[in-house]
Amino acid sequence: MQSHLLSSPSQLSKKCYSKPLHCNKIFAIGYTPVQLHFLMLKHFFATVCAGFLLTLTACYSPGLQRPFFVPACPVNIPETEILTRKGIDSVLGLLPTVDFKALDSTYLCYSDPENKFCRKLASQQYYMVKGDQVFWPLVGKYRIGDFMTPDRYYTQNMRELCAGHTQYWLVDKKMLYMMLDLILALDEKGYNKYGFRVNIGHRHPAWNDGTPNSAKFSQHIYGRAVDISVRDIDNDFVVTQQDKEIVLTLLEKIVGSKGGIGKYPGSMGIHFDSRGTKARWDQH
Ligand SMILES: [Zn+2]
Repeated sequence: MQSHLLSSPSQLSKKCYSKPLHCNKIFAIGYTPVQLHFLMLKHFFATVCAGFLLTLTACYSPGLQRPFFVPACPVNIPETEILTRKGIDSVLGLLPTVDFKALDSTYLCYSDPENKFCRKLASQQYYMVKGDQVFWPLVGKYRIGDFMTPDRYYTQNMRELCAGHTQYWLVDKKMLYMMLDLILALDEKGYNKYGFRVNIGHRHPAWNDGTPNSAKFSQHIYGRAVDISVRDIDNDFVVTQQDKEIVLTLLEKIVGSKGGIGKYPGSMGIHFDSRGTKARWDQH
């Protein structure tokens, strides 16, 4: 406020201009010292409230919770919601795909240095994601980047968005459909449909090896799994196991015998996947 007033000398009357600046400030805007103090207090509380609201928004807004580097070029960050299977299909349909055998050797060496998954991944079609495509909403408001390995390729792309670096990514539509069903079910029951954070989807073999407590042949390697953190689902402003129970109950129906659910009691984390057979576990 002070700097604003001081930087606007044109507002000062000629009579006050020669006086000390703190004096000019008061006369220039025509308030008494008491009124000015009141105004400053109002300004202070407005700033604190705005800061608090911004923090709340940052904490509860879904999509790309990972570090975001300020880009040096215009970036397209669509705010649309994808709430149908057709919508998911059409977003994925816009991405070019590449056969595992056609992946560049640098990526292959980086993502699977011991060549352990060569045969297991041979039939996979990888999506190619470039530049600001990581911001495209994919399911609900969750974005493509939320489901990607946050590795060296991801970080380089985020740092140099304008360059449009290529990243290779695996995702199973069936897992995305499960998440869509979860969002729709939460919404239908009056809960916060975005009351969870997406931590990770695809993990390439090297990233999976470096993830503590990960399964050796994790479904994440094939893009069939997602890890989420449950937040305030029932809108009571606190995050408790009750929120997690709501999500687990819904997922039990949605995933059914078509996939796995890792429940991890005591934490707010849940894993679910579309492996095609039923699997349930509590601990890592
Ligand atoms: Zn997982």
